Amino acid sequence: MTLLVTDAIVLHSFDYLESSRILRLLTREAGVRSVLARGARRSQRRFGAALDLYAQGSAELHTKPGRDLDTLGGFDLSRARPQLAAHLDRFNGAAAIAEMALRCAHEGADADLFDAVTLALDEIAAAPGTAARDATLAAAWRVLAALGVAPTIDECAECHASVALDEPALFSHPAGGVVCARCRTLARTGRTLPASARGALRVWLAGGSYGIADALEARAHQRLLREFLREHLADDKPLRALDAWELV
Ligand SMILES: [Zn+2]
Repeated sequence: MTLLVTDAIVLHSFDYLESSRILRLLTREAGVRSVLARGARRSQRRFGAALDLYAQGSAELHTKPGRDLDTLGGFDLSRARPQLAAHLDRFNGAAAIAEMALRCAHEGADADLFDAVTLALDEIAAAPGTAARDATLAAAWRVLAALGVAPTIDECAECHASVALDEPALFSHPAGGVVCARCRTLARTGRTLPASARGALRVWLAGGSYGIADALEARAHQRLLREFLREHLADDKPLRALDAWELV
């Protein structure tokens, strides 16, 4: 066994046998890890609130080469984020971010993804309930950027020609973003984005908050995000948390 001490966030958790739990952790040093927390259900004392969803801290993982399931030795909690469970929009938003990270994380260390997910959960936790959807959309695009698949907004994804900021433009999922009028004729599929929607993406990717006008606009953005994510996934397994977030 090798001991690995790393910053970690609990992104998924389920009961295992009579007294234990299995966690899916996003770690800074080793990507996504499945971890057995032995006795976590028998004794609250051992890990306490450290194993709640979206808790973050320093985890001690005992790893074995060739084995997919690590053993959790300890978890030194630094952030519990109870605000995420206190409002449905926050909870659904956090679950959508967790699902994206679990489905898209590459093998091995990824500090950019870890930092983007940390910031995402902090911002959703701090958002008033009504702003949680906006905060989640902003965070989701930044998580995708951290994964290396940020969409192009201001230049053509195919030929890099600039696309006027104040005009609607075709957003092509296979191309990876907005395409110019010339490349538009070659695009297989896509969705026309009004200039305001491009503006929102620009603001979110730059770390700002946009302020969505109404439920209709929010749904259009959620749909765009889901379609874009789907395009970048290697499999077509359902995105349950993302679907639930979209339906509320
Ligand atoms: Zn073009």
